[in-house]
Amino acid sequence: MQFIEASKFYFDQAAKALSLGSRRERQLLTPMREIKVELTLPLDNGEIATFIGYRVQHDNARGPMKGGIRYNPAVDPDEVTALATLMTWKTAVVDLPYGGAKGGINCDPRQLSQDELQRLTRLWTDAMHDVIGPNLDIPAPDMGTNAQTMAWIVDQYANYKGWQPAVITGKPIELGGSLGREAATGRGCLFALEAVLEDAGRSLEGIRVAVQGFGNVGSWAARLMAERGAKVVAVSDVTGGIANPDGLDVPALIAHVAATKGVVNFPGGANASGEQVLTCDCDVLVPAAMEGVFTKVNAKDVRAKWIVEGANGPTTPEADETFRAAGVTVIPDIFANAGGVTVSYFEWVQNIQAYPWTEEHVNRELRARMRKAYADIKEQARASSARDLREAAFQLAIQRVARATKLRS
Ligand code: NAD
Repeated sequence: MQFIEASKFYFDQAAKALSLGSRRERQLLTPMREIKVELTLPLDNGEIATFIGYRVQHDNARGPMKGGIRYNPAVDPDEVTALATLMTWKTAVVDLPYGGAKGGINCDPRQLSQDELQRLTRLWTDAMHDVIGPNLDIPAPDMGTNAQTMAWIVDQYANYKGWQPAVITGKPIELGGSLGREAATGRGCLFALEAVLEDAGRSLEGIRVAVQGFGNVGSWAARLMAERGAKVVAVSDVTGGIANPDGLDVPALIAHVAATKGVVNFPGGANASGEQVLTCDCDVLVPAAMEGVFTKVNAKDVRAKWIVEGANGPTTPEADETFRAAGVTVIPDIFANAGGVTVSYFEWVQNIQAYPWTEEHVNRELRARMRKAYADIKEQARASSARDLREAAFQLAIQRVARATKLRS
């Protein structure tokens, strides 16, 4: 729950810098609507199991709300609310015409059969169909859910409102999903890094990158950065780490992980521990696994000059202090990993227009959005007392939401 406290800390700090006042702060933090429903699932073996389904709709001042659906035993109201709030700030940073929401079911998807998962997802949709919709709240995949889950939701929703693919994003391509969505978060990390490096008079060519987490975000970020001339010198996942100061062959590593389920024992490098990957000699570190990775204890050992937060909440506020003092630039999660929600927005636009884009068009638009967001964050930093990109990004987001709220009231 450490990220819940951290995001509240960043909000408080930004709200103070913006002199919002306690009434506006309270209005911005209070979720618009919190829904909690009983989902009783008939199991394959004839028994029943009861789960709790959630949707927290935090804020819709800037447009319909957007956020993932998570299937995980740890899903609880506080977590869902904190994640919904973060979505409000994330969509505002990249200037999408959205607010923030989040939802989920407190289940362990690995313990359920495909049929059970399908029935559970349809039950969730039955319970939520009146509060989600293309102009209300548009869910997407998150931990434990995927394109198939989204396909069941769009199908079940059609029973109530007809075929409306824009009710949900992250769908299979055949049902209106967007080309480029799978790589979008990693590609957004690449574009964020590219813009920040340019500012420092550097390019990706020859830059040494280490990546923690080699799932969707980490493997795409590594692959795309390598394609642009970066040298990926170390990678870790839940099985351990692998390093090669001359650069790992990323496509070969991806094939190795597909075959063996982990990065360890990759023939093109030497095994390393997860901690060694975080503190290796590199220029750029991409945490793309989980929250709370950099703490007061280990931040001082990081040798990278740039950190690209592919994961949500990898840096604690104490570690931020250490990085600031050491001149390490942290590209914050609410900007760095916003590529996924940005291409989700493109999917929604394509669905509404019933006009699919080419992958090249998606990637071009994504790059333009990320670069514009970085320019806006920099401008905010210049015009305010923000001490780093995270503070500036929070200020930018909260100010945008506060302005929309005021204009509508
Ligand atoms: P994923 O499940 O595809 O991959 C997670 C990776 O982290 C796996 O390779 C796993 O082995 C690794 N990992 C787990 N524990 C680890 C540990 N202790 N040390 C090193 N590696 C470890 O997940 P993902 O979709 O790539 O998401 C990663 C992070 O990015 C999460 O924080 C997620 O919230 C965030 N994120 C994802 C998206 C997206 O579009 N997928 C968008 C925004 C943010």
